[in-house]
Amino acid sequence: MKNGKSKLVLVAGGAGFLGSHLCDALLSEGAHVVALDNFQTGRKQNLRHLEREPRFDLVDSDIIKPLPARLRSKKVKFDEIFNLACAASPPHYQADPEHTMLTSVVGTHNLLTFAEATGARFFLASTSEIYGDPEVHPQKESYWGNVNPTGPRACYDEGKRAAETLTFDFDRAGRADVRVARIFNTYGPRMRADDGRVVSNVICQALAGDDITVYGDGSQTRSFCYVSDLVDGFMRLMAYEGAFPGAVNLGNPNELTVGDLAQKVLAMTGSASRVVSRPLPVDDPRRRRPDITLAKQILGWSPRTSLDVGLRATIAWFSDERSDASKAPRAPTMLHGAVAARQS
Ligand code: UDP
Repeated sequence: MKNGKSKLVLVAGGAGFLGSHLCDALLSEGAHVVALDNFQTGRKQNLRHLEREPRFDLVDSDIIKPLPARLRSKKVKFDEIFNLACAASPPHYQADPEHTMLTSVVGTHNLLTFAEATGARFFLASTSEIYGDPEVHPQKESYWGNVNPTGPRACYDEGKRAAETLTFDFDRAGRADVRVARIFNTYGPRMRADDGRVVSNVICQALAGDDITVYGDGSQTRSFCYVSDLVDGFMRLMAYEGAFPGAVNLGNPNELTVGDLAQKVLAMTGSASRVVSRPLPVDDPRRRRPDITLAKQILGWSPRTSLDVGLRATIAWFSDERSDASKAPRAPTMLHGAVAARQS
């Protein structure tokens, strides 16, 4: 609520995995929400339950292009803008790397100038990928990262680094009130079965009885955060009223190897799938775990959902999805061999 009136919020990427959960959380707090999506990876079905919600609107548009005129109308005054618009799984963001880079750079610039014009607070969904293959562990916000600027992940990593640069420059120039979250690996209901990331791949493969694809020897680590915890972090960071804290890590510090994750999902699903090894993608980070001291201090935030509880909910959701066979495309795996080698 602002001056007794409910807030008007724009969620770019609102039909995506994270965006749709954020729309739900904002609506449940009484906000009016406009979701904007180009449906590259976002899906209308993530928002179907909001079709009759009078405080919700969905706009089909790409943030690379000028925002639709009806949003830019002087009569519409947004209080907050969340930029969650970007393909985020390696197979999806690498499918059109030029578009990925432009989404982060041109798209973020479009939304920042819109925030400046409308006086809205701006939130950038940045990523742990800006740390690249980190030489510092766990990763603190003060770490500058170790990113290959010319490899196949660069379109996403360098794009998000540039998006942070633009956002910090708008802050320094007093042009917008900004918040930047660095999001670590997140999972939960509404991930796409064909997302290509490890949690959705392993669960879908286990439920289908397909081979579980572990890239490399499975000793690389990640730290997985359940989606509702992450969205709670978004809301707290956007509402934070202190001085600009810089970028803030949001993720679950509970680190495990990819091999252990596969075994856990196999045990939880009771699947008879075999674990098979596939080549490690180019520039795949060896280790990743957030240091969330800053989020704890300034937001009083830390994740509450254990991996067991979160995986159980995610497995149940994918299992329901599978009951409609047409909704269950096979889990895609990374491009290996010739294409990956050319990109390295
Ligand atoms: N991975 C895997 N099997 C898969 C998909 C991914 O072993 O079917 C690995 C991948 O190589 C990486 C880790 O799991 O080491 C996490 O990959 P994901 O794509 O989920 O996220 P990111 O690499 O962006 O952290």
